[in-house]
Amino acid sequence: MRILVTGGAGFLGSHLCERLLNEGHEVLCLDNFFTGRKDNIQHLLGNFRFELFRHDVVDPFKAEVDQIYNLACPASPIHYQYNPIKTTKTSVMGAINVLGLAKRVKARVLQASTSEVYGDPTEHPQTEAYRGNVNPIGPRACYDEGKRCAETLFFDYYRENGVDVRVARIFNTFGPRMLPNDGRVVSNFILQALKGEDITVYGDGSQTRSFCYVDDLVDGMYRLMSQTETVGPINLGNPGEYTMSELANRVIELTRSRSKIVYYPLPEDDPRQRQPDIALAQKYLGWEPKCRLDEGLKRTVDFFKDRFFSDT
Ligand code: NAD
Ligand code: UDP
Repeated sequence: MRILVTGGAGFLGSHLCERLLNEGHEVLCLDNFFTGRKDNIQHLLGNFRFELFRHDVVDPFKAEVDQIYNLACPASPIHYQYNPIKTTKTSVMGAINVLGLAKRVKARVLQASTSEVYGDPTEHPQTEAYRGNVNPIGPRACYDEGKRCAETLFFDYYRENGVDVRVARIFNTFGPRMLPNDGRVVSNFILQALKGEDITVYGDGSQTRSFCYVDDLVDGMYRLMSQTETVGPINLGNPGEYTMSELANRVIELTRSRSKIVYYPLPEDDPRQRQPDIALAQKYLGWEPKCRLDEGLKRTVDFFKDRFFSDT
C-alpha cells in the first residue's frame, strides 16, 4: 500500500515510517519540521519506497494513497504552548485536510489522538467511555481541545461521509528519538541524570503517568489501522502506573547517577493521574504492551548516551 504519515519526521512518526517500510509498504512522509528532525528519517531517505515532503497540514494537499496516519502536531507541553493558536490550527485544520483527502481518494485514515482528551481525569483508570475533565481556557487547552475537536471531525466525516476512520487515544510514550529539549519528563530526567544535574520533579512528585515504549505503541497503531472490527476510539498505552518520584528514582538507579531530586512548582492544569484501561485494545487488536518500563528506559538511556555523550 501507499501510506501517508503526517508528522512522519517526529518521534513517533519516524518509528512508524520504519515499521511501515519493514511491512513492505510505500511511505510518504509529510512534515513541516517544527519538532521533527531530518536526523530521525535520514536512514530512510535511501529507501526507494520512502518519500519526504516538507509541507504544513494547515494547508490542503493532494496525494494518491491507500491509508493516512495523521500524527502532525507538537506533543510536548513546551512545544504545543510555544504558539498555542497554531497548535489548535494544526489539529483542527490538519484533521479537516486529511479527512477531505481520505474522502476523495477513499483512504482509511487514523488519528493520533491523546489521553489529554480526558484532561485531569476524575475516573481512574480511564476507559474510552469517560468523557473527560478538560479546562477549555487553560494553557493545555490548545492541545487538549484541538485534539477533542479533531476527534469530533473524524466521527462526523465517518457518520456523514462514510470515511473509513480509526481513532487511537495515545498515552505517554517514550523511547529513542525523543527531543532532548522538549521538556517531557522521561527525556528531562534521563538527560539530567546523565549530566549529573538536579532532577526536576514538579509538584510533590505524587502525580502519576503510565509510560509506553515506542515500539509497543507503533504496533498498537498498526494493528488498529489493519483491522475492520472497530473504528475506535481505542486507548493505546501501558497500564503500568508510576508517580514522578518513582520515575526519578528509577532513572537515577539505572544511570547510577549522583543527581539529587529537587522540587519545582506543578504547572497549571497538570493532570494528577493517568492510567489507560486497555480492555478494548486487548479485545479488538489482541494488543498489549510487551516492553517493561526498566527495559524501555535502558534503551532510551543508551540512545541519549550515544547521541550526546559518545565522546566522553
Ligand atoms: P513530535 O513533536 O515528535 O512529532 C510531531 C511531528 O509533527 C513533528 O515531526 C512536527 O514537525 C510535525 N508537525 C507539527 N506541526 C505540523 C504541521 N502544522 N504540519 C506538518 N507537520 C507538523 O511528537 P510525537 O510524540 O511524535 O507525537 C506524534 C503524534 O502523536 C502527535 O499528534 C501527538 O499529539 C500524538 N501523541 C503523542 C504522545 C506521546 O507521548 N508521544 C501521546 C499522545 C499523543
Ligand atoms: N514533569 C516533572 N519534571 C520534568 C518534566 C515533567 O516532574 O522535568 C512532570 C509533569 O509535571 C507531569 C509529568 O511529569 O506531571 C509528565 O509530563 P510530560 O510533560 O512528560 O507529559 P504530560 O504532562 O503531557 O503527560
